[in-house]
Amino acid sequence: MMDEIRIRRLEIFAHHGVYAEETQNGQFFYVNATLYTNTVAAGKSDDLTLSTNYGDVCLFIDRWMKENTYKLLEAAAEHLAEALLLRFPLIRELDLEIEKPNAPIPLPFASVSVKIHRGWHRAYLAVGSNMGDKKAYIEGAVKSLEDHPQIQVVKVSDMIETKPYGGVEQDMFLNGAIAVDTVFCPEDLLEVLHETENAAGRKRTIHWGPRTLDLDIIFYDDLVYEDENLTIPHMDMQNRMFVLEPLMQLCPGYRHPVFGKTVSELRDRLADR
Ligand code: ADP
Ligand code: MG
Repeated sequence: MMDEIRIRRLEIFAHHGVYAEETQNGQFFYVNATLYTNTVAAGKSDDLTLSTNYGDVCLFIDRWMKENTYKLLEAAAEHLAEALLLRFPLIRELDLEIEKPNAPIPLPFASVSVKIHRGWHRAYLAVGSNMGDKKAYIEGAVKSLEDHPQIQVVKVSDMIETKPYGGVEQDMFLNGAIAVDTVFCPEDLLEVLHETENAAGRKRTIHWGPRTLDLDIIFYDDLVYEDENLTIPHMDMQNRMFVLEPLMQLCPGYRHPVFGKTVSELRDRLADR
């Protein structure tokens, strides 16, 4: 359970809306926010610099709501939530509700609103390269991940040299794992990984063939997810020592949400086979 800092009915005059009169004339909005954070350090020390200043948050929301114009409350909430998470690093998650008490509805009503929950997620990535300057490709990948404000690289494992996997004749691999915190949803994170692979000159030719850079999502919180482009946890990680060994340095106690076994147990099980 996380602690909460709450803001109720912050009143802001702004110009969001679908209709021309809304964007031209403007109207009042109310913003409600619950900021999930850890207040223990600030509570024990009575030191504001160890917490998130709710006054600063209110001023930020007010300025942001006035400087931007979105048609939909959904869009305003989505972008404001991300802006808050990037600007105030101690906020791990938030509930954000934007109310429109004077929405253009020809009926008596109190208010309409959109409320969303957003936050930072912990993801573990596998990285590999077996062409050209492998170390440089991997270091470049870590750098370009860090260039996204929506991604914070938390820890990078040592890189290990491994034999190629999957039966294709090719050069040795350099493999590792990266822990990141991100506000991206899994699909957007995968898109960034593909852009990073493409920027490293990766050509998708032979399946399991040589590549300048491979970036895979292994875990995303304790999410279990599957569609045609993306499976989380990564479907083959339990069979890949070159994934499990580097993960041992980052999250040995992390429990696989489907198998119910820790990274350390999965590694031992694979070593026994
Ligand atoms: P591999 O990583 O198995 O060597 P590729 O990197 O060529 O193969 O990935 C093939 C496809 O696998 C990607 O286009 C992607 O859509 C899909 N994929 C499914 N799950 C994941 C995941 N967890 N991480 C990365 N890619 C994934
Ligand atoms: Mg891949």
